[in-house]
Amino acid sequence: MNGKLLIIGAGGVSSAAFAKCCQNSEVFKEIMLASRTKSKCDALVEKWQSKTTAKLHTAQVNADNTSELIALIEQFKPDAVLNLALPYQDLTIMDACLATKTNYIDTANYEPLDTAKFEYKWQWAYREKFKEAGITALLGSGFDPGVTGVFCAYAMKHYFDEIHFIDILDCNGGDHGYPFATNFNPEINIREVSANGRYWEEGNFIETKPMEIKREYDFEEVGMKEMYLLYHEELESLAQNIKGLKRIRFFMTFGQSYLTHLKCLENVGMTSIKPINYEGKEIVPIQFLKTVLPDPASLGPRTKGKTNIGCIMQGLKDNKPVKYYVYNICDHEECYREVGTQAISYTTGVPAMLGAMLVMNGTWRKPGVYNTEEFDPDPFMEALNKWGLPWKESFEPVLVE
Ligand code: NDP
Repeated sequence: MNGKLLIIGAGGVSSAAFAKCCQNSEVFKEIMLASRTKSKCDALVEKWQSKTTAKLHTAQVNADNTSELIALIEQFKPDAVLNLALPYQDLTIMDACLATKTNYIDTANYEPLDTAKFEYKWQWAYREKFKEAGITALLGSGFDPGVTGVFCAYAMKHYFDEIHFIDILDCNGGDHGYPFATNFNPEINIREVSANGRYWEEGNFIETKPMEIKREYDFEEVGMKEMYLLYHEELESLAQNIKGLKRIRFFMTFGQSYLTHLKCLENVGMTSIKPINYEGKEIVPIQFLKTVLPDPASLGPRTKGKTNIGCIMQGLKDNKPVKYYVYNICDHEECYREVGTQAISYTTGVPAMLGAMLVMNGTWRKPGVYNTEEFDPDPFMEALNKWGLPWKESFEPVLVE
């Protein structure tokens, strides 16, 4: 390993992850930032070059095109590729990593353009090929998925013999002042929240209508919030990887203004992913909507408040019942001051950097395709505290009914 990382994508999450990689130049000695729009990469390099000893490079790449990716990887010869483009590019980038025997890290599962599935099956199908090639793919190394998987593995390792119930609570108490905006890529965000809800119980997924199940929770440093049950991709991997699990659910907080706008946009067909014909040209309504919404990157300087994301678990240790809550609280304005993004990008970008670090330094290197909960959680938990996402724990949490 020569300390070289190729990062693909230069949006919100990448801006935070790139800044953190620059801070961690002991591990990342040389970083290439490549994306569809090279000027965004150049701007980030200009911003951070004077503050790091890492050698920084930029390139233009179309990550939908495997041969372009292979050429770039062969030219730069990175130890790993950190995919921070969109879920649509996961497989082309994994193919390029396979062809060049390069390790792979991402933060979101592959999504086909035409259906919103949130399933790992396409990427898990690469397990044998990655094993044979002797390279590691670390899937979903963001916050949720990512840190949430590490939190569960940590709880399993230290506090439980069996975990029976997991509730993942994702609270964003931030206010950006717009009536409607999404705090990460609008297309992915809207696809996620307008899909049917789903949770896993006793071996089966149970489907709910979008926003059908609502709870209130009093989040530390944020306050009382309404949260809704959503399907989230880590439910699929955690249901398989956590021993003794009986039920796992995911809740996310939404403000009333966001939900009212979303309902209206849905009702008029603006969130559809089916192409329509507009004045002789085929357009996808949700992609058009994305172009008129505020760019998530522009929310950074306007967002105030905090996020609080964590996992509440119940189970057994030595046949005695145990309750455990582990969570991180992150301040939007502090993130902006440090790396120039709001907390959603920051809470994803830091674990993306950490995943790349642990794969590159060998701590989490194991040929095959893995989710974060399949590795030893301790080095990641320690690194979270060191690199800007300190976590807290409680053994008497208020439970979600
Ligand atoms: P953005 O839309 O801000 O950034 C995406 C970047 O990828 C842009 O720079 C875009 O280029 C680039 N890109 C898109 N298509 C291509 C392509 N074909 N070739 C090269 N580059 C391309 O998204 P975010 O930063 O908000 O999200 C990045 C990823 O992080 C997504 O997969 C998202 O789902 C995931 N995520 C994960 C979370 C977690 O906790 N696990 C939480 C939040 C996000 P251009 O600048 O030209 O548009």
